Amino acid sequence: MLTITGLSAGYDAIDVLHSVDITAEQGDITVLLGANGSGKTTMFRTISGLIRPTAGEIAFDGRSITRRPASAIVSAGIAHSPEGRHLFPKMSVEKNLVLGGYTRRRNRSRQRELLDQVFELFPILHQKRHDPAGSLSGGQQQMVAIGRALTADPRLLILDEPSMGLAPLVVKQVLEAVVEINRTGIGVLLAEQNATQALRIAHRGYVLAEGRVVLSGRADDLLHDSDVRAAYLGM
Ligand code: ATP
Repeated sequence: MLTITGLSAGYDAIDVLHSVDITAEQGDITVLLGANGSGKTTMFRTISGLIRPTAGEIAFDGRSITRRPASAIVSAGIAHSPEGRHLFPKMSVEKNLVLGGYTRRRNRSRQRELLDQVFELFPILHQKRHDPAGSLSGGQQQMVAIGRALTADPRLLILDEPSMGLAPLVVKQVLEAVVEINRTGIGVLLAEQNATQALRIAHRGYVLAEGRVVLSGRADDLLHDSDVRAAYLGM
């Protein structure tokens, strides 16, 4: 579904990612692990067209999306829920959600359907749909950030550290929602600090260190390999 080959990218001519190869299969949850600063956010921003790669190729469903504008990448079916959520705190929950679907604004019935699906996934957001997004708890705001990406009708959802700053019980709920979303056939590319929990829900995993893939494999295998756990996952 998503094939990244030899990808290098960074900031001000300094590469942060060095010839990275990653594949996310159709319908899988693929998790990207790695310490702070290892390059996960840079990778996601490059996939989404917000950073131009200095080398390499990104293909989605067999078509190159390398160096295409961010709006074209959303239209191709990739939606990105960024680290830190970036909601509009004074706008209502519903308005924040609808913003994700702006590329689909010509198709109002589909947009309504997507919004209803988000409310079905997160019933609390339906209850609070008229409240300012900034008045919600951290976990609920994260639901809005994920829901906003879903209203773009993606086939691949990129989630950058959705559980950041959330209490353990809320982290569990957010990851359960990721599984629910994946069950509907949407592929998920997920960056997570909670390595064990992320690997438990994922199909495949990649470990990034200093902008390089140092390890990859089936999530189950990564989870149960004691060397891997000690060296890379801090377990
Ligand atoms: P985190 O979990 O902290 O977000 P990450 O794995 O997502 O970590 P990145 O945010 O991609 O890592 O950062 C990778 C490297 O790029 C770091 O060394 C960081 O300092 C650098 N970097 C990130 N954003 C910028 C920027 N806007 N300008 C310059 N350097 C940056």
